[in-house]
Amino acid sequence: MPGEIYSMFADIFKTMGITRRELDDAEDELVLPKMTEMEKTGIADTGIDMIYDRKSVAISARNGIFSYKKRPVVVYIKEQYLDDKNITAKKFNKYHLCYCKALQTAEKQRRFYNRYVMVRRTKGDFWTRIHTKGSDYVVGDYMYRKLDICQDCLRMLNWKNFNAYCGSNPDNWWEYGDEKKRRAIVAAFSIDEFLHVMREELRAELRNELASAYRGR
Ligand SMILES: [Zn+2]
Repeated sequence: MPGEIYSMFADIFKTMGITRRELDDAEDELVLPKMTEMEKTGIADTGIDMIYDRKSVAISARNGIFSYKKRPVVVYIKEQYLDDKNITAKKFNKYHLCYCKALQTAEKQRRFYNRYVMVRRTKGDFWTRIHTKGSDYVVGDYMYRKLDICQDCLRMLNWKNFNAYCGSNPDNWWEYGDEKKRRAIVAAFSIDEFLHVMREELRAELRNELASAYRGR
C-alpha cells in the first residue's frame, strides 16, 4: 500500500531528511487534483481564502472537516476584528477543525466563506492582522500569531475521546465534565497529527467512492 511506504522505510527517509508529511504531500500530488504553485505556498503558510475557489472546498458529510482539492485543512480568520479588551488580552478568534456551531452561525450571518481562510501550516501560529472592531483601523500588522483551538470542534470530532470529559448538554457542555482532562487534550493537540489522520480517512473515502463507481458500471 502506498500509504505504508513511510513506515517501511522510516529509518532511510529519516537519514535522508524526508518527513512523513513531505512524502504524503508528494504522493497526494500524484493522485489528487493539481494545485498551482501559488496554492501550494498559500495553503502551507499564509492561507487561501475560502472564497478563492469555492468549488474546490468540501465539507465532509461524515464528520464536517474541511478539505481543499481533497486535502484536509484547518480554517481561521486572517483579518481579525477585536474589541479593545480582547486586543489587550491577546484574545484572538480561534481556529477550527470542522463545521462546528460557531461556523454554522457565521455562515447564517454570511460571515463564513468571505472571512475564513484555509491552511495546512502545522506550527499552531497563523498569519493574521488585527483591526479595531467596527473599523478598518489596523492595530497589529500581519504576523504569525498563536491562536487557540475551538474546543467545540474537538467535541464534534470526539478527538482523543474529548467527549468523555464534557457535560452531556450540547448547550453548556463546558460547564460540566472534567476540565483538567479537556485542557490536557487541548495542550497536546497537534495540527500535523490531525491532518495526517484526516488524510487517511479522506483517502479511505476516495477508495470507497472509486470502488462503488466501479461496481456500479
Ligand atoms: Zn469550531
